[in-house]
Amino acid sequence: MIKIRGLTKRYGDFDALKGIDLDVAPGEFLVVLGPSGAGKSTLLRCINRLCEPTQGDIHVDGQRVTAERASLRRARRQVAMIFQHYNVVPRLSVLKNVLTGRLGAMPSVASWLQVFPRRDIEIARECLRRVELEEKAELRTDTLSGGQKQRVGIARALAQQPKIILADEPVASLDPKTSRTVLQYLKQASRELGISVVCNLHQIEYAREFGERIVGVSGGRIVFEGGPDQLTDEV
Ligand code: ADP
Ligand code: ADP
Repeated sequence: MIKIRGLTKRYGDFDALKGIDLDVAPGEFLVVLGPSGAGKSTLLRCINRLCEPTQGDIHVDGQRVTAERASLRRARRQVAMIFQHYNVVPRLSVLKNVLTGRLGAMPSVASWLQVFPRRDIEIARECLRRVELEEKAELRTDTLSGGQKQRVGIARALAQQPKIILADEPVASLDPKTSRTVLQYLKQASRELGISVVCNLHQIEYAREFGERIVGVSGGRIVFEGGPDQLTDEV
C-alpha cells in the first residue's frame, strides 16, 4: 500500500532522514517508534507531501507520489492524517468537524459552513459511531476532553474513507488510560475497514501493545524492524 525507497530529507545542512526503505501492507497497523527528533514526523509528512522529500521515491497504492497537482490530490484523498494536537475546529460541532473529512485534505474556512449532502452526514454519523461519540454529535468540539477530541480526529480521518491513515503521535498529549482507549479505537477501525495505519509513537509500551509490526527510527535511520515480541527495551 505504501512503498518508500531511498527517502532522504535535508533541512538546510541537517539530514532529518538518511535513506529510508519501508513497505506498508494493505490493512497493516504499523508503529513507527522513536525518540523526539528521530525523524518520525518528517517520514509521515513526506508520504502525502506535506513535506517535500530531498531524494527517494514514494508509491501510494501503486502510484508514484509527485509534487504535481493531480498526484497530490490523489495521494491526499487516499491518505488521512491524525495529529498530536487533534487539529479540530473548537467552535464547530463534533459532527461538522467529522464532516470536514468529506471535503478533502485542506478545506477552506468557508467550506466548513456549507450545507452537506445527506449521504455525507450519514457517513459522518457512522464514523462517530465507530468511536462511540454519536451522542456528542451536536456539541461544540471545545466542550470535549482531549481523548474525545482525538476520537473526533479519528472519525474525521475515517470520514475521508481513506486507504491509509497516518497518525503523528496521536496520544502524546493524553494520559495512559485515555491513550490506550484512543489507540484501541484506531486499531479496531483499521482492522474492521482494512485501512493501513502508520502510527508514530515514542512510548515503547504502546508500541508493544498495539503494533502488529514495529519500525524503530533513530537519527533519521531505521534501526529496528520486527514484531512486538522482538522489541527489547534498548531500542
Ligand atoms: P520526530 O517526529 O521523530 O520528533 P521530526 O521529523 O519532527 O522528528 O524531526 C526530525 C529532525 O528534523 C529534528 O531534529 C527536527 O528538529 C528537524 N526538523 C524538523 N522539521 C524541520 C524544519 N522544518 N526545519 C528544520 N529542521 C527541522
Ligand atoms: P500540527 O503540527 O499542528 O499537527 P501540521 O503542520 O502537521 O499541524 O499540519 C499541516 C496542515 O495540514 C494542518 O493545517 C492540517 O490541517 C492540514 N491537513 C490536515 N489533513 C491533511 C491531509 N490529509 N493532507 C494534507 N494536509 C492535511
